[in-house]
Amino acid sequence: MKFICDVMLGKLTQYLRILGLDTEYIRDVKMLETYKEIDEPPYFFTKRSKMVGYERCIFIKSDKVKEQLKEISHIIRPFIDSGKVMNRCMICNIELIDVAKADIEQLVPEFVFHKYEEFKNCPSCGRVYWEGSHTEHMAEWIEEIAGHTPDPNPL
Ligand SMILES: [Zn+2]
Repeated sequence: MKFICDVMLGKLTQYLRILGLDTEYIRDVKMLETYKEIDEPPYFFTKRSKMVGYERCIFIKSDKVKEQLKEISHIIRPFIDSGKVMNRCMICNIELIDVAKADIEQLVPEFVFHKYEEFKNCPSCGRVYWEGSHTEHMAEWIEEIAGHTPDPNPL
C-alpha cells in the first residue's frame, strides 16, 4: 500500500516514512489522477476541507504530527511491518541499504562512528542513518501507533 500526503503534511510524510511506509508527498492534487485508475488506490491524507474528487481521501484535523498519526493509526497500522520500521529515507522515500562502517567514517560525527556498529545509507541522497539517528523517544510513539514494540536494534 502506498500513501500520499498533501503539501501541508510534510512532517507527517517524514514520520510515515520512518514507520517504513511508502509515502509520496505531493504539491499538486492533480497528481492524484495518476492513481485513480490503479486497483488499490493509495490513501490520500490532506488538510484541505474541500473534496478533491478522490475516493480514498482522509481529512486530517490536527496541526500536530503526533495527533495526526493518532487520527490515521487505524488506517496505517495494518501496513506497518516491524522489520521495515526505520528502514526508509525520510527525505527520498527510498529503502535504505546496509553500508560498511569503514565507508561512512567521513560522513558521520566522530562520536557516532565510535558508538555504533551498524549503518545504512540512502542510495539516492547518500544520507547516513544509524540506530541513534532516530531519537530515543521515537520508540515510544512508534509503539503507540504501530501497536507493538519496534525491534530494539532496527539497523
Ligand atoms: Zn535519501
